[in-house]
Amino acid sequence: MAQILEALLSSGVLIPAIWLSLGFVTAWFLLSAKRVVPLTRKEAETLWKVHKQNRLCSAKGWREIVRRNKIIGFECECGHKHVQKKHIITISA
Ligand SMILES: [Zn+2]
Repeated sequence: MAQILEALLSSGVLIPAIWLSLGFVTAWFLLSAKRVVPLTRKEAETLWKVHKQNRLCSAKGWREIVRRNKIIGFECECGHKHVQKKHIITISA
C-alpha cells in the first residue's frame, strides 16, 4: 500500500488528482447551493396561475409568502406552497 502511495507521489499524479477532486466537490457545492429569489407580486401571481393550470386547481385565492419584507413565493388556497428557489449557476436544458 505504502509502495503504491510512494509511486503515485513520485510520479506526480496524486497532487493533481487531489486538486481535481477538490474542484469537483466545489462545483457540486455551487451547483447544489440554492438561494431564495425574491419575486414581485405580479410574478408570484403568474406562478400561482401556472400552478392552477398544472394541478387543475380551482382555488380562487392565494397569498404571498413573505420573508424579510420580500415576496419569496405564494400559498394557494388549496394548501399548495411554492417558494421560488434558483440555482446560483443555471444550466439551461
Ligand atoms: Zn392550488
